[in-house]
Amino acid sequence: MNFGLSDEQEMIVSTVRSFVENEIYPHEAEVERTGEVPAEIAQEIKRKVIDLGFYACNFPESVGGPGLSHLEFALVERELGRGSMALTHFFGRPQNILMACEGEQVDRYLMPAVRGERMDALAMTEPDAGSDVRGMKCTATRDGDDWVINGSKHFISGADHADFFIVFVATGVDDTPRGPKKRITCFLVDRDTPGFEVARGYNSVSHRGYKNCNLYFDDCRLPDAQVLGEVDGGFAVMNEWLYATRITVATMSVGRARRVFDHALHYAAERQQFGQPIAKFQGVGFQIADMITEIDAADLLTLSSAWRLDQGLSANREIASAKLYASEMLARVTDAALQIHGGMGLMDELPIERFWRDARVERIWDGTSEIQRHIISRELFRPLGA
Ligand SMILES: Cc1cc2nc3c(=O)[nH]c(=O)nc-3n(C[C@H](O)[C@H](O)[C@H](O)COP(=O)(O)OP(=O)(O)OC[C@H]3O[C@@H](n4cnc5c(N)ncnc54)[C@H](O)[C@@H]3O)c2cc1C
Repeated sequence: MNFGLSDEQEMIVSTVRSFVENEIYPHEAEVERTGEVPAEIAQEIKRKVIDLGFYACNFPESVGGPGLSHLEFALVERELGRGSMALTHFFGRPQNILMACEGEQVDRYLMPAVRGERMDALAMTEPDAGSDVRGMKCTATRDGDDWVINGSKHFISGADHADFFIVFVATGVDDTPRGPKKRITCFLVDRDTPGFEVARGYNSVSHRGYKNCNLYFDDCRLPDAQVLGEVDGGFAVMNEWLYATRITVATMSVGRARRVFDHALHYAAERQQFGQPIAKFQGVGFQIADMITEIDAADLLTLSSAWRLDQGLSANREIASAKLYASEMLARVTDAALQIHGGMGLMDELPIERFWRDARVERIWDGTSEIQRHIISRELFRPLGA
């Protein structure tokens, strides 16, 4: 077993880390203050990432991506996790599900997304359907050769900058022994499609500037050519291509935790109370020890699940464990870092309170901690027939 990185992998880490430090950190405070990413900064980040050859680094060489392994992509995401998501969004990792594009879809959606010419957003969640994806009420019904979509989606990240949307809607119901089961189909929807509206969403305490929007469909008419994958095959295409995205939350959580940890470590070494650095107090030193132990454990769990994907091994349970543990670890680490900073930790003079707020969403999106536990236990009990 080799825990070392190759020279090339070390270079990926150092390139992305210096990009985040030089191109993302300087804009963070202003984005946090205004809740907006100025268009010129978004464009500049995009252009520099394209020049670096890292845009769409989650795509294979066959479609113009750099063809990184799952492990290498996890290393990129870990470094991006250090930076504000509102800004690292423009580092550009289009949804892998676009690999399911066929025929004209390739030139209209996949290739422009990989080249950084068009941005995508993924829309699954609805006001009444979050964890229970199949409970979605947004429907597409047949009308002649077309589909007519009605309903709404909410919490859709990156929708403010998206040129097109990957949208999951119900296209029928099957009667099964366990009750009715909705059939789901995935559609590609251009932003300017008549009957489709992108509206401002809620303000979140986590990741200000990384907006989430509401989507409304009012008799939105789409031809068959907009179906991504097969009609009624939404779950198949989701399972094939979105299976590994939960690993991103885990890797970003590890990167962010390491940044927060560095702040806490240095603050503890410098802050004097009772005539000595607070690091000298066992109550503080032990918190630091627990923090780094948990970060390292989450890092190993995450990278090993990426490695499993590269080996073609099953990784569903391992990815769920990584997402669960890393996001819960980040909450504990940011909370401890804030405690170590005392009152200053709560002040917007320092970025600690932002890290603490940002950490909160990681346990919720891309499947809550409870849903990850559900996946883990289901995978363990399945062979026992329980
Ligand atoms: C900032 C933000 C951005 C987002 N971006 C996107 C996006 O771009 N695209 C998109 O499609 N979605 C997005 N989401 C949606 C996100 O994936 C959902 O919020 C998440 O899946 C949880 O759904 P919910 O919020 O409706 O909570 P609910 O599903 O209503 O859950 C409420 C509570 O019940 C628990 N619960 C539910 N079912 C079970 C169960 N079976 N067992 C045990 N506990 C259960 C949950 O764990 C949770 O604690 C985003 C969410 C946020 C907050």
